Amino acid sequence: MLIERKYQLKQIYQGHIYQLWGQMFCLQEMGYEVAALSFYEQSTNKMIPVAMPTEKDIEEFGRFIRQFHNFNPVDEIDINPNKCRHCIYSNLCDKTDFENVYI
Ligand code: SF4
Repeated sequence: MLIERKYQLKQIYQGHIYQLWGQMFCLQEMGYEVAALSFYEQSTNKMIPVAMPTEKDIEEFGRFIRQFHNFNPVDEIDINPNKCRHCIYSNLCDKTDFENVYI
């Protein structure tokens, strides 16, 4: 079982899932068998099982990886202001002028 530890997981975003899938493919390419996926939330001591990706999910993940490969850092991106306000990188990020809530 591949387990990704997070201190807190109030909401599971698609990016979290992609992280697990990416780790799964890396392990499989190294010859390990991955039978199940899960998050472990440390703050609540809870395991949160995640379904193994279907063929359709794998195609979707492939499209995402190709977008990632073709990404040009100077291109504009759609931002989520709420995420940016809670992002520890907002002061360094050239995609937003939002101050984060941690200042
Ligand atoms: S501040 Fe930048 S890095 Fe952080 S969530 Fe917004 S766009 Fe992404």
